[in-house]
Amino acid sequence: MVDAAAAEQFLDANPQFAKQYYDINFRPKVISDLLDNNRKTAVNISTFHDLTMVEESEIVFDLVRDIQDNLQMEKSVFNLMKHLSFMMRADRMSLFMYRQRNGVAELATRLFNVNKDSLFEDCLVQPDSEIVYPLDIGIVGHVASSKKMVNIPDVSESPHYSEFVDELTEYKTKNLLAVPIMNGKDMVAVMMAINKLDGPRFTDKDEEILNKYLNFVNLMLRVFHLSYLHNCETRRGQVLLWSASKVFEELTDIERQFHKALYTVRAFLNCDRYSVGLLDMTKTKVGPHRYTQEFFDLWPVLMGEVPPYEGPKTPDGREIIFYKVIDYILHGKEEIKVIPGPDADHWALASGLPIYVAENGLICNIMNAAQDDFFNFQKEPLDNSGWTIKNVLSLPIVNKKEEIVGVATFYNRKDGKPFDEMDETLMESLTQFLGWSVLNPDTYDRMNKLENRKDIFQDMVMYHVKCRKDEIQSVLNTRERWGKEPDECEEEELQEILTEILPNSKKSEILEFHFCDFEHSELDLVKCGIQMYYELKVVDKFHIPREVLVRFIYSLSKGYRRITYHNWRHGFNVGQTMFTLLMTGDLKRYFTDLECMAMVTAGLCHDIDHRGTNNLYQLKSANPLAKLHGSSIMERHHLEFGKTLLREESLNIYQNLNRRQHDTVIHLMDIAIIATDLALYFKKRTMFQKIVDQSKTYENWNDWTKYMMLETTRKEIVMAMMMTACDLSAIAKPWEIQSKVALSVAAEFWEQGDLERTVLEQQPIPMMDRNKSEDLPKLQCGFIDFVCAFVYKEFSRFHVEITPMLDRLLNNRKEWNALKEVHEAKVAAIEAAKKSKEEETQNAAGAKQASPERCRTHAERSTEVRVPRRLHVHSAADECARVRPAAPRLIDTIVVNLTSSWSL
Ligand SMILES: [Zn+2]
Repeated sequence: MVDAAAAEQFLDANPQFAKQYYDINFRPKVISDLLDNNRKTAVNISTFHDLTMVEESEIVFDLVRDIQDNLQMEKSVFNLMKHLSFMMRADRMSLFMYRQRNGVAELATRLFNVNKDSLFEDCLVQPDSEIVYPLDIGIVGHVASSKKMVNIPDVSESPHYSEFVDELTEYKTKNLLAVPIMNGKDMVAVMMAINKLDGPRFTDKDEEILNKYLNFVNLMLRVFHLSYLHNCETRRGQVLLWSASKVFEELTDIERQFHKALYTVRAFLNCDRYSVGLLDMTKTKVGPHRYTQEFFDLWPVLMGEVPPYEGPKTPDGREIIFYKVIDYILHGKEEIKVIPGPDADHWALASGLPIYVAENGLICNIMNAAQDDFFNFQKEPLDNSGWTIKNVLSLPIVNKKEEIVGVATFYNRKDGKPFDEMDETLMESLTQFLGWSVLNPDTYDRMNKLENRKDIFQDMVMYHVKCRKDEIQSVLNTRERWGKEPDECEEEELQEILTEILPNSKKSEILEFHFCDFEHSELDLVKCGIQMYYELKVVDKFHIPREVLVRFIYSLSKGYRRITYHNWRHGFNVGQTMFTLLMTGDLKRYFTDLECMAMVTAGLCHDIDHRGTNNLYQLKSANPLAKLHGSSIMERHHLEFGKTLLREESLNIYQNLNRRQHDTVIHLMDIAIIATDLALYFKKRTMFQKIVDQSKTYENWNDWTKYMMLETTRKEIVMAMMMTACDLSAIAKPWEIQSKVALSVAAEFWEQGDLERTVLEQQPIPMMDRNKSEDLPKLQCGFIDFVCAFVYKEFSRFHVEITPMLDRLLNNRKEWNALKEVHEAKVAAIEAAKKSKEEETQNAAGAKQASPERCRTHAERSTEVRVPRRLHVHSAADECARVRPAAPRLIDTIVVNLTSSWSL
């Protein structure tokens, strides 16, 4: 037990402890007691009496507390006026605020009839019931215009007195004391005391009291005035920000607008530079904490090849990937840099701060960044200008759905001071504004997409794809046969016609890998296409109305443009190869009839509305398609086009599927058509190879089939690879076919090359350069080795039935190689001739070097320049000439560069 003496002794011996104890436990308490909001004044003003010094200081303290509490201005002034009316023994007091409207000054009642017992609510004048005085009327007006205090013992003798208000309020004003309240030279308000209670008039002492307390009023009003001005300034800033948004309406490209907004406001930001990182929002939210991923990114995770993403995530569970950084450098030479796919060590990202902000959604205000332990800011100058990072303010950009769409980071306030609360507020409203207006995937992006979609759709309509009434008669000749339109016929009547006119699958060879379209008309191919649905036995099973099936396939044939290579023939060939892989290649064993139908349909649709130019060209020519689709530009368009046709009731072959079936076919078409983007081919190669390997571990083929049928992801990967095998299938056709088709592929490439040269004013890559057409055999060999060989080797290993494709591919490799050697020999000969300076003789010798057995056939095709020029007659250049040139965009991966030019 410690007694008082012991405690005292201890405290004496430990003064530091005593002080600490007092500081912690008492000092704050004393102060907070004094400032307690609920603490009422100690002065009793219910009865008038002379103020003691203590009471007066209590009143002063009340006023200080009011100011400190940042009460509503009127409330503070009201409290003061209550005290004043008590101290001056005034019957009532009023406050009139000075203002100007349309350049004319006036005074308006704000606090009216305040006395020591008033309630604030009774005295505060609402804007709709204020009394307004022009400056030339009444004593109030006189005070405001003379800017001097007046003490009037008898108002009836004042020339300025106006009875107006007294009449209005049924009150008799006898004497008054009024004083102007100024802010410097500016008039702010007039305060007035009316009718002295304990005397005939207000005294000199009352004037003294009023003057003394006026200082407080001044202070209160000034605080109010300043915050009002600040408010105006903020609003002005906001107006500026919003007007910057006006420019958005003129443009469609989201990022350009975002950039423009940030650029417009740069002067207000008061910092050396800022950097904006945009987060990848392509993964659309499907649940509270789940986002869909592109199938090609999802497969490796589902196959267990890639661990699930474990890096930082946004609060709502999205992976944090800055797909683009925009740097605004405002010091020295102003500069704006757009960095697509920034490296992790980009100066603005390397510190780790933007990721932290995106992860936590916090505002981070860091001073003296170089000293910061948590983030790793670059300590050395960032560039030659010697600029270093000092103070940093980083904020999340949040859209209306509260999703973090990016991070804005501001560096070094212009005056060298750390960023303060004001900056935080300003930057926060800016980032909020940006998030709401620009990067709102919900509204803006949708609008943007709608606009592009509308353009594209109009384009489609112009091309009037839909099979017309007269056109369907070329297949379903119901007029001639039944004397009526197809929609007036029974299914049996239509079937009767179809049974007659559809080709025999044996004769037409649609079940053969070596199927050749050369001898077929486009209408024949439509009929072959319809026949495939019969062979798959899906027409009756899924209740496809016959008229719809015919219209659909016919419309597909019309949806393909009449261009050199990517025309209906190519579309059909891909559908036919898919059909053959399923039927003849026995891959159907893994898939349901429904899935097979989706796959063949995907094959037929996969290049619809192709323009004869590849994805890179869409980007470089700033085609609206490139703005609509971020990746796999053309493939997404083919898919959308196909799905748009299927949305038409008269073309919807899926119309009698149930919801689940419908979802399945659309899902498979989504994957299958996007999978024809060769840029994605490299992503699925090893996964496919592993499936083939796995199949070899099964001794019993039926067990393997049963296993596979339930493996959704594996089936999707096989299907995606089948699409590639189909798309490239011309390379695995008999040489007579391949040699011709390769030339039409090349011709279309050369046409794109011509466009690049003329429209974009760029040098095309060798593959697209008709001046390098003699390189074709070499390019074909490379294409076979790098891209095709794997596909057909693996498929032949998977299903031996597919070996014919590989055999033909290898044969074609030999043929191309022979041509290549002929050409190389020629070149070598020319080189040699130059060296020996015996040009003519050597050249002749070179020509003779060509392999004798192949010489005749190859001579025709290897006369490089002549063949392509002949093909050029069927140019698609006109088709694409409308494409306007634009600055090329940066392409971030080499893979895209390499493979997009190969997309077939
Ligand atoms: Zn294709």
